[in-house]
Amino acid sequence: MMSQYSVFQLLRETLRGHTGWRPAWRDPAPKQRYDVVIVGGGGHGLATAYYLAKEHGITNVAVVEKGYLGGGNVGRNTTIVRANYMLPGNQRFYSKSLALWEGLEQELNFNLMMSQRGVLNLAHTDGQVDMFARRANAMRLHGDDAEIWSPEKIAAEVPMLDLDSARFPVRGGLMHKRGGTARHDGVAWGYARAADRLGVDIIQNCEVTAIERDPQGRITGVDTTKGRIKTGKVGLAVAGHTSQVAQMAGLRLPIETHLLQAFVTEGLKPILDQVVTFAAGHFYISQSDKGGLVFGSSLDGYNSYTARGNLPMVEHTAEAAMSLMPCIGRLRLLRHWGGVMDMTMDGSPIISTTHVPGLYLNGGWCYGGFKATPGSGWCFAHTIARDQPHPIGADLRLDRFMTGRELDEAGTGAQPNLH
Ligand SMILES: Cc1cc2nc3c(=O)[nH]c(=O)nc-3n(C[C@H](O)[C@H](O)[C@H](O)COP(=O)(O)OP(=O)(O)OC[C@H]3O[C@@H](n4cnc5c(N)ncnc54)[C@H](O)[C@@H]3O)c2cc1C
Repeated sequence: MMSQYSVFQLLRETLRGHTGWRPAWRDPAPKQRYDVVIVGGGGHGLATAYYLAKEHGITNVAVVEKGYLGGGNVGRNTTIVRANYMLPGNQRFYSKSLALWEGLEQELNFNLMMSQRGVLNLAHTDGQVDMFARRANAMRLHGDDAEIWSPEKIAAEVPMLDLDSARFPVRGGLMHKRGGTARHDGVAWGYARAADRLGVDIIQNCEVTAIERDPQGRITGVDTTKGRIKTGKVGLAVAGHTSQVAQMAGLRLPIETHLLQAFVTEGLKPILDQVVTFAAGHFYISQSDKGGLVFGSSLDGYNSYTARGNLPMVEHTAEAAMSLMPCIGRLRLLRHWGGVMDMTMDGSPIISTTHVPGLYLNGGWCYGGFKATPGSGWCFAHTIARDQPHPIGADLRLDRFMTGRELDEAGTGAQPNLH
């Protein structure tokens, strides 16, 4: 039985020289058969396994991960959590996800460093101010929080910004106070520990190499680098590798894989209290609890499965940073890294049954899937357990691309690299 983390346990272990800690989850060999196999041990796969066990009582579940937990995008993102969407299909889903985030540390008994410090989207033209006002109204009508901030308010709250830049003056902003950041790999570890506690087997260093079906097309199992596992239900949660793994079951998806980079500077004393986004280019920045400024911008612009980016995007990102906050120009960059993004044609995710009986799909998270982790696991577990979409994720079905009911939040059309 896994112990409950508490201040008393911490004190006891401090006095015992930290000799009493046990692994946070087991390291089991795969069984021959499971009721459900989840492919991908990122945030979404682990959350799905947790909610399958907790909400639906399905505990004979394996999460099969080709690398180590936290090695995928769940540990590579810029950790922004928010629910500031406008289209009803997205709003319903992301509001639920944010509500789940708000109780998650207590539920998982794990410090996720959830910090609702507010997300401020800056507007640089009058048109953008109008657009944000429309979005804020839609958010408030739906019950999410939103405020429009004037340039004076922004100057008082975020003094380091260059508000009067000749090219990109700040005309106002949309503040979403319940948004913020959370510790990304902590989310993977917290869900892993809680799922393991409920009986889920987490199998690392185990790649799924084939998906098996019977002559009627039903799922019968998966082949892995640790042998064959029989199951009647396979849930895919492999993020940037969604189209590759889905192809193993004969599915061709409206998804392209692109590369996104992120950056962190050396540590500073606190200078930035919120998450700030720059709408004149595409740039977002926050300060980690260690003091580093964490930021990112756009995709590298071509299809790729490599998890490292190129220098032109480094330059582009540095330009955006300097346009917005010239005072950070002398900071040294500590690290930058990349992740592979499963970009859909409308920029919205997919949580769905498929035409292959027993195959369920979770993917297309573009570069917004971290904030979706709890909501995604919640809805996907429901879809797998009941063979139908959860009402709050009903608009995220795969068949929307056949019926023309896309959720194009950015309004950029079927151009995945622009979402
Ligand atoms: C640089 C960057 C910044 C981002 N910033 C944000 C942000 O600020 N806010 C936000 O909401 N989102 C952000 N995202 C997006 C977010 O990180 C992803 O959408 C989300 O993490 C994807 O879900 P996941 O956690 O399950 O993915 P992953 O952690 O990638 O999990 C998928 C797992 O599947 C495994 N896998 C793949 N193929 C196989 C196979 N054949 N067999 C077994 N296992 C397999 C992989 O090894 C991987 O561990 C960002 C992403 C990146 C890269």
